Order: sequence, then C-alpha cells, then structure tokens
Amino acid sequence: MSPATTAVRAPAIALARLTKTYPGGIRALDDVSLTVAPGTFLAVMGPSGSGKSTLMHCAAGLDTPTSGSVRVDGTEIAGLGEARCTELRRERVGFVFQAYSLIPSLSIGDNITLPLRLAGRRPDRRWIGELTERVGLAGRLDHRPAELSGGQQQRAAVVRALAARPAVVFADEPTGALDLRSAHEVLELLRGLVDELGQTVVMVTHDPAAAARAHRALVMADGRVVETLDRPTAPRLADRLVMLGER
Ligand code: ADP
Repeated sequence: MSPATTAVRAPAIALARLTKTYPGGIRALDDVSLTVAPGTFLAVMGPSGSGKSTLMHCAAGLDTPTSGSVRVDGTEIAGLGEARCTELRRERVGFVFQAYSLIPSLSIGDNITLPLRLAGRRPDRRWIGELTERVGLAGRLDHRPAELSGGQQQRAAVVRALAARPAVVFADEPTGALDLRSAHEVLELLRGLVDELGQTVVMVTHDPAAAARAHRALVMADGRVVETLDRPTAPRLADRLVMLGER
C-alpha cells in the first residue's frame, strides 16, 4: 500500500486529562479524556451544570482549561497564544448555535460567507453552492434571515459552519429553538453531513431524541464523563438522565 492509503488521520478532537476549575473551587471539568475520530457524530448530554458547555468551549478553543491537553485536528491548542488560537478556530472549527446567530441586515448568502471574509479568505463558491443545494436553500441566498423559517435559518447556519471545511463542527443545542419537524430536518442534515461527507460533528443537547441521531453519546455529571453509549437510543439516554437526576 502507498503511504497515502496507510496514513492515519489525526483525531478530529483529542482531549487528555482536561480539568477546568473556577475560582471558589468549582470543578467544571474533572480529568476528562476523550478522542473523537474524524467522521463521527458525537452527542454530549448531562444535567444542567454537568460541564457540557465548558467541555465544548475548551475543545473549541473558546475557553482555556486549567490543565490538560486539547488537540484539534492534530494541533495542540492549550497554550497557543490568543491570536494563533483564533486563527486555528477560524480555519478548523465551525459553530452552530441554538439561536442561529445570523445577522438580520445581511442576505443569507452574505451571512454564509461572512466568517470566511472576516478571516480574509476567498469563499469556495462551488463548495458553498453544493452545500446550499443540499440543504434546500439555493433559491434563498438573496433573502434576509427574517424571510426564512427557523428551520431554514438553522440550515443556513449549518452551511455557514461548513463553509471553511472545518475539521469539526460544534453544535450547541442546534434544535433547541425549532419545532419537531424542523428539528428532525436539521438532525438529518447533520447526520447526512457526517455519513456522506465524513464531517465530524460534536453536538451538545438536552434532548435524548436528538442525541439518538448521533453515532455515540457521552453522558456527563459533575464535570466527568460517566457513560459512553455507542448507537444510543432515546429511551436508554432518557433512562440514564433520569437516574442521574435522582441521585
Ligand atoms: P452545563 O453546560 O452542563 O450546564 P457548564 O459547563 O455550564 O454546565 O457548567 C459546569 C459547572 O461550572 C457548573 O457548576 C457551573 O456553575 C460552573 N461554571 C460555569 N461557568 C462558570 C464561570 N464562568 N464561573 C464560575 N463557575 C462557572
């Protein structure tokens, strides 16, 4: 076999012995180690205050851990300077938020390319065209966000997150503001991007039905990963969350 075929891709995310302690001694993360292979759809669940946001923010280079290592696509980010970290985030990480975070005065097309343009990069028109086609927004690029449904806005936010071909997309409660049907569409879209394009997606969610669309689900409690479920189902996840709530 040629070296190209034997080359092993670095994990999209590798966290080693990550801790985050806030003043007053709160351990938001307590010795978390975790590897996310490229092309994985990972859901992160757990009760409020269990550390999900802190984990995502540290893994995405938005927050600095107290100790431990964070590698994104093979690059160590713990200890990178602020400027390099911002650069790496722009190049290698995409974000989808619950509230879409589209700029109301810009067209959908300009919203999608804004992060790239802010980073001084030329948008790959062909790639963005493929993505907008895929999410059913090709005819909507001239519209303002308010002219679209919530589900369409979130699909535009997914295209924006993927425009720079990031190593990993972090989605923070991406279906939290959507009705059931739109939520289902956005989850199917994320799952399809993982299964068909090999995109890596890490999604924080409270919803067991949403997490059940992932390949793997982590359950957090008190800053630790207390359970990992492969091919999770909504009933099993709901069961685990109820048990944690009753401790
Ligand atoms: P989750 O996303 O699961 O709700 P978080 O990661 O937001 O949990 O929080 C984990 C723990 O860290 C909680 O106990 C929370 O109160 C604490 N925490 C989060 N952010 C801060 C902060 N900026 N200052 C102090 N404590 C914080």
